[in-house]
Amino acid sequence: MSTLEEKLRSYEDFELAFVLHYKGMEYTENTRKKIAQEILSRGLTENDVNSLIAEKLDNNIPAGETKKCPRCTSDKIVTDKEYINPMSNNLDDIDSTEPRYKDVYFCGVCGFNMSKGMPEKEFALLTKVIVVIAILIGMSLIITLVFSWI
Ligand SMILES: [Zn+2]
Repeated sequence: MSTLEEKLRSYEDFELAFVLHYKGMEYTENTRKKIAQEILSRGLTENDVNSLIAEKLDNNIPAGETKKCPRCTSDKIVTDKEYINPMSNNLDDIDSTEPRYKDVYFCGVCGFNMSKGMPEKEFALLTKVIVVIAILIGMSLIITLVFSWI
């Protein structure tokens, strides 16, 4: 068994779902295939994957948390050093006499950059679907009204 397969096997079901959904397109076809194989071997359907994601997106992990990902709730957090460019336009970054590196935290599963904070709480997938349906219904009502006036 390759190291990749071992790593995927150590992931929980929801972590596999997030890897595929958020990072899938960044990986090679071979890696994507192995992720999909692991998901299938656990008997997870596309519906299961979608509901695992929706369920986890609806979490209450506060921004600024460094032990768990605020997006997918995984605790597989990667710490890295990021070079601060002295020509940076971010004034917070350049007001420092320290070495020009700062700690950054990434989610090792979904790739979320925790150092940038949580911009806006993401809508759960279900909410997105409801919004899209509401817009479609609204548009068809408007079209019906416009045609009834002609
Ligand atoms: Zn994550």
